[in-house]
Amino acid sequence: MTDCLFCRIVAGEIPADVVAETDSVIAFRDIAPKAPVHVLVVPRSHLANVAEVANADPGLLADMTALAQGIADAECGGQFRLIFNTGAEAGQSVFHAHGHVLGGAPLGWEPA
Ligand code: 5GP
Ligand code: ZN
Repeated sequence: MTDCLFCRIVAGEIPADVVAETDSVIAFRDIAPKAPVHVLVVPRSHLANVAEVANADPGLLADMTALAQGIADAECGGQFRLIFNTGAEAGQSVFHAHGHVLGGAPLGWEPA
């Protein structure tokens, strides 16, 4: 059994509120939402961060982006922010690549 949280969600071992999925990507609601719409788009394969996704399979990154757009089209008028925290200093806490799809309200843009 893997100790990767998102591999376990992909495998169905841990429940999640899945909103969309394809052969390569699954999308589920963040357990601690930071916006009215806060969905994580996650490759089914274990890659540590977005740079690893881009290097391993650029098409998979395109699949993640397309699913993010589809969620935003369905839930927030096609307008969304897509964030990939990369590295602990940037706020990454789960080291299985994921994009945060945020929307559903005007989003601030504050410096760190
Ligand atoms: P990161 O901090 O790595 O960029 O994002 C990880 C995200 O995963 C966080 O926003 C956190 O709220 C979310 N998260 C952590 N554990 C769970 C979980 O068990 N289920 C779901 N759906 N989201 C989780
Ligand atoms: Zn994983």
